[in-house]
Amino acid sequence: MKNISILGATGSVGTQALTVIEGNPELYRVSALTGNGNAALLIEQALKFKPELVVITDESKYQAVKMALAGTNIKVLAGEEALCEAAVLDGVDIVLTAIVGSVGLKPTIAAIKAGKDIALANKETLVVAGDLITQLARENGVRIIPVDSEHSAIFQCLVGESTNSIEKIYLTASGGPFRGKDRSFLKGVRKAEALKHPNWVMGAKITIDSASLMNKGLEVIEAKWLFDLDVDQIDVIVHPQSIVHSLVQFNDGSMKAQMGLPDMNLPIHYALAYPDRISSDFKRFNFIDYPELNFYKADSETFRNLDLAYVALRKGGNMPCIINAANEVVVEAFLQDKIGFLQMSDVIEACMEGIGFIEQPSLSNYLETDLHTRIFASQLVTK
Ligand code: NAD
Ligand code: MG
Repeated sequence: MKNISILGATGSVGTQALTVIEGNPELYRVSALTGNGNAALLIEQALKFKPELVVITDESKYQAVKMALAGTNIKVLAGEEALCEAAVLDGVDIVLTAIVGSVGLKPTIAAIKAGKDIALANKETLVVAGDLITQLARENGVRIIPVDSEHSAIFQCLVGESTNSIEKIYLTASGGPFRGKDRSFLKGVRKAEALKHPNWVMGAKITIDSASLMNKGLEVIEAKWLFDLDVDQIDVIVHPQSIVHSLVQFNDGSMKAQMGLPDMNLPIHYALAYPDRISSDFKRFNFIDYPELNFYKADSETFRNLDLAYVALRKGGNMPCIINAANEVVVEAFLQDKIGFLQMSDVIEACMEGIGFIEQPSLSNYLETDLHTRIFASQLVTK
């Protein structure tokens, strides 16, 4: 029996994780749940899964959650700091980080220091401070098991290969809803079109990131830290069907790919069950439904974010933290119709130039960079 704490239980990954847990009551128990905006769903989840602790980060909703759970012995806490309580709870074996954004950084660090294994969906944490997080994980003997489908694919390809060298990896990208479009088309797109992902149903932020290819840029950085690779060992290939979830090429030229239907339940289930594979009734892939699988070069001239992420990774230091914070601001602004689709990259680039570079940042340097970049980017957005 594994005890699991879910940070961001009310989101896309969080709710799918609860479905997996519900289907395997003999394997998993929910110890803590956290949510931000959707108090009603958090209450419903709490009444169903009966965790020890519930955290509502939006403090204005504390009373509502507290009242609804008054007849139970579930402890209720409010505020961002309380996320760390959910991350370090006694008896918890795995913390699933399904929060969106760099707000996941502090609770992830707290969980690692408390010796909890991490099932990592919150890629922003590794983008912001991948060096600190991976070093902490090594020091504390903690496993970071990826939930992101591409990284789960690479992870699965590497099982049993610990003594063999990786030549390179290929992260597959669906290309999002605007694959094949040019800049004049992109200039006029609005959020409704950008939110229509062809293969995956996900939270709003990652869906916009997928449309702008920033998601793949963040994933390149995430892969660097998860698999200890050089930037030149990480390639991106567009694969519109999202069946091949990613590939590893070894030093003898052999390639391994992990495949399956696009369904986040699978990588979530794998991360929670690792090192075992637990049987599931998820829909199976049928070759006859997919007579063709296609692969194309990514169009990083049209979708500049991918290149910006590579530039940030090559530069290192706090540069990935800068692009992440800037991206969080511009995505929010785009979702509020405050800026256009192409302007998102312009603001990110301006932040890369405008925020002070730090070669070897400490945790407080990262937190300051995150804050300063948000202020700087917000000013550019309102101009
Ligand atoms: P989502 O928007 O659906 O859910 C986000 C969760 O985080 C919610 O529970 C929300 O309440 C919580 N949250 C939001 N802001 C918060 C804040 N300020 N403080 C505390 N909690 C907050 O997002 P999602 O699509 O589930 O994605 C979650 C993470 O997983 C992201 O980092 C995303 O990149 C990654 N991911 C998601 C998918 C997917 O299929 N959805 C796939 C791969 C990776
Ligand atoms: Mg992914």
